[in-house]
Amino acid sequence: MNQHPYPTPETFTRARSAELFETAKTYFPGGVHSPVRAFKSVQGPPVFFERGEGCHLFDVDGQAYVDFCGSWGPLILGHVHPAVVDRVQETVAKGMSFGAPTPHDNLIGQLVLDHHRFIEMIRFVSSGTEAVMSALRLARGVTGKSKVIKFEGCYHGHVDSLLVKAGSGLVTFGISTSAGIPESFAAETIVVPLGDPEALEAALKQHAGEVACVIIEPIPANNGLLLQQIEFLQFLRDKTREFGVLLIFDEVISGFRVGFEGAAGLYNIQPDILTFGKIIGGGMPVGAYAASKEIMEQVAPVGPVYQAGTLSANPVAMAAGFATLTELLKPGFYAALEEKTARFTGRLQTYCDQKGYEATFPHVGSIFWPTFTREIIRKSAEIDDSRMRFFKVMHLECLKRGVYFGPSGYEVGFVSAAHTEADLDFAASQIEASLDLVFQG
Ligand SMILES: *Cc1c(COP(=O)(O)O)cnc(C)c1O
Repeated sequence: MNQHPYPTPETFTRARSAELFETAKTYFPGGVHSPVRAFKSVQGPPVFFERGEGCHLFDVDGQAYVDFCGSWGPLILGHVHPAVVDRVQETVAKGMSFGAPTPHDNLIGQLVLDHHRFIEMIRFVSSGTEAVMSALRLARGVTGKSKVIKFEGCYHGHVDSLLVKAGSGLVTFGISTSAGIPESFAAETIVVPLGDPEALEAALKQHAGEVACVIIEPIPANNGLLLQQIEFLQFLRDKTREFGVLLIFDEVISGFRVGFEGAAGLYNIQPDILTFGKIIGGGMPVGAYAASKEIMEQVAPVGPVYQAGTLSANPVAMAAGFATLTELLKPGFYAALEEKTARFTGRLQTYCDQKGYEATFPHVGSIFWPTFTREIIRKSAEIDDSRMRFFKVMHLECLKRGVYFGPSGYEVGFVSAAHTEADLDFAASQIEASLDLVFQG
């Protein structure tokens, strides 16, 4: 039955991973290139991986895991999907980069714009952070205003002015704002709580005439999964319009994840600018920002807002993105993924309910969040940080049983098209056993 070399609590080892990590720490700060990877808020050294296949990860100690991290979101098709790998291999053999237009640009451009009702033009960049940075510049360029309103607990990449109460790695390490951000930059950012229409309206009134845009993760998924009520998002749309302020949906994580049209499509709300990343690159480093033709034509070389990139729309990355997005457009893709996720989280919820465990598994589309409370959480201030100790225990026990979650209780999990019912059943059994350990010792 067990055709994958899953570890068990008796056999689990990180001997080789630990060795590699010791060496890595002498080369790189904290041994890593992105802070949460260092496992500082969970137990033991990070697991070093050798390869992935479908929904499985294989580590350097020869053990397999069902992967719910999915490279933090891009891998909606799982690892090494044949259509993606074929297209990438074919493309890479013809040259890795030209710094010039290629036909791949048009292919992915047409694919995205033909199937996304909320955008008319798009510009590709190389990361989600870069997409957000560019979108902010565009919003400021279009409006001639400088201030930005963001929400507490929303993460928008490591853009200087937005690393204020930002979730993701910052909340994992208990720091609300990064060092190295001049006060004058942070002063351009106004932070309001999520789901609080009065606070939002007060901020818009107080800074009337100074605000370029409001930026939100319409599905906040970098500080737990803080699902917003559609009424709040609609209010946000109406008020920004009323105050002449642009609305940016940061869909780096939700774009192409909860549907091809992301959260804009799910809630049927038209933002002014959208940002993408993660899935749009099919596992390669890609980001993008998009809007109406009118707004996008403010970008250089047509308009005055400068933005450029040596490796922007890199052909290999565009090939990976194109092949990935093509799969997502197949009929029933999202319905099947959502149904699988609902069944998986539903099973875990039923288990916890029957056992009286204080845990819930909210989900939207194929994004879910294992959280140790019975409350519905809609803002970061409602998260009881002390309960992350439960996540820490669950995380280690899951690892020992062949289930890989991102190493932070503030991060969400992702189900991919490659997770079969059998994989999810196996994973659910292991998670249930881990929860027994969390709640019964
Ligand atoms: C991941 C993420 C980013 C940053 O993207 P990177 O590619 O890591 O720079 C920005 N915004 C949101 C909502 C994200 O989830």
